[in-house]
Amino acid sequence: MYLGRIVELAGGKEIYRDPLMPYTKALISAVPVPDPEIEAKRERIILTGDVPSPINPPTGCHFHTRCQFAIDACKTQVPQLVEIKPDHFAACIRISPEHPNIEANASDGLVAIEN
Ligand code: SF4
Repeated sequence: MYLGRIVELAGGKEIYRDPLMPYTKALISAVPVPDPEIEAKRERIILTGDVPSPINPPTGCHFHTRCQFAIDACKTQVPQLVEIKPDHFAACIRISPEHPNIEANASDGLVAIEN
């Protein structure tokens, strides 16, 4: 959940194994792993910017002011919770069941996906 909206919904193991939405990816990357070798190799996603006020959240996707993948459409389109994989839902206009990997979509220049 981010600023009052559910942004990703899946079973516990699934969401740790394969987070899809950028905010979830950042949260999961901050959880320590109790294995020093694995922990040393992990890449943390550091969010920049301040958390906006929940009283006056950003337009469109509430996360767009802090999302490294945000495009102009994110400022106006409210992402809907979509089943991206079986029993795994995410709210992001740049991912879809056909294109679930936001890093790949961004590097391919794939912009907003209608949902
Ligand atoms: S909708 Fe846009 S701002 Fe929101 S998570 Fe997806 S890419 Fe980022």
